[in-house]
Amino acid sequence: MSDKTTRLIHHPYQPPAGFSAPQPGVFKASTVIFPSVAAMHTREWRNKSGYTYGLHGTPTTFMLEERLCALEGGLRCVLACSGLSAIALVNMALLKTGDEMLIPDNVYGPSKALAEGELLAWGISHQRYEAMSPSDLAARISSKTRLVWLEAPGSVTMEFPDLIEMLRICHARGLICALDNTWGAGLAFNAFDLGGESVDISVQALTKYPSGGGDVLMGSIITRNEALHARIQGTHMRMGMGVGGNDAEVVLRSLPSLALRYAAHDRCARALARWFQSRPEVVQVLHPALEGSPGHASWKSVCGGGQAAGLFSVVFHERFSVPEVERFCDSLGLFKLGYSWGGPISLVVPYNVASMRGPAWPYKGVLVRFSTGLEAVDDLQADLAQALDRL
Ligand SMILES: *Cc1c(COP(=O)(O)O)cnc(C)c1O
Repeated sequence: MSDKTTRLIHHPYQPPAGFSAPQPGVFKASTVIFPSVAAMHTREWRNKSGYTYGLHGTPTTFMLEERLCALEGGLRCVLACSGLSAIALVNMALLKTGDEMLIPDNVYGPSKALAEGELLAWGISHQRYEAMSPSDLAARISSKTRLVWLEAPGSVTMEFPDLIEMLRICHARGLICALDNTWGAGLAFNAFDLGGESVDISVQALTKYPSGGGDVLMGSIITRNEALHARIQGTHMRMGMGVGGNDAEVVLRSLPSLALRYAAHDRCARALARWFQSRPEVVQVLHPALEGSPGHASWKSVCGGGQAAGLFSVVFHERFSVPEVERFCDSLGLFKLGYSWGGPISLVVPYNVASMRGPAWPYKGVLVRFSTGLEAVDDLQADLAQALDRL
């Protein structure tokens, strides 16, 4: 090694082993270096006994996978580059032309778009069942059904379904049930231990509470079944949906405070949701932990009357036009306009639910979805009050 350039790349110095600090080191790799050709040939990564290529795992991603399994009570985890790509991966791994999947009518919007777009183009059909009706779900199961998606509560409209009964119905027919568990975050309930039932697959957008910063996109797919995991892991490898070491590290750093943050988001959202119930401008507050919200009884039985995420929606009185409600949103100072949730900043989004849900949606007024951040409740309430005054 006479050349300086070569010496800079192949420098012999190795720092002493045994370094220990609160946060694990970050490993970043596309290439993984093998000690020998024999090691290259006998490599094994599927069971986390070794490494092959950055896409298939590094110490950092393996560590995150194991911690997420501990969080959710699962056995095996696959990381994807966003919550949506995790959902897409489950669909691609488990469905083929001629198959059908069932999704709830209040499903996360981009999931529905995927069903109506690529999946339909690939000859995979879907039906939307009434999220609050186990009997409607049961009636839509056919010999083509291969996968049933559950979501608790529904995105935007916040209805909490009878998860346990729906799992019972699907499992009696031998169907695989995947839950979008982003709201529960592995904290509000245990998706793998629900009154004698268990989901087969739990998907989370780590983008939300596990990241906690509004600065990372990532998704997880957790199972308790090795064969099911192997199918998803195989598709994950072939589709090349890996995550970067720096992003994995951000989530690892946020996980220790997840439960504390979740509880704080919950307290704040409930206080503001209850306050909204006393306001004459709104006709309905949608928050599963509040009496009178759709699915409150199911939330109680599934979450044991305990935790909820920091999300709620309100339906404005129909006397307020769309531009007026939009002006309310624009008048907010602390609540920022933006999609996603789970970070320190409170967010607000107005939705045209009638166009998302069709004629079954019972309200005429505009729906506004709030996600509480970590600001003080009194400041957020004052912000809402001053914006309501401008209506
Ligand atoms: C945000 C979200 C997703 C998608 O997560 P991304 O990382 O933004 O792709 C999926 N499901 C639910 C319920 C979500 O809120």
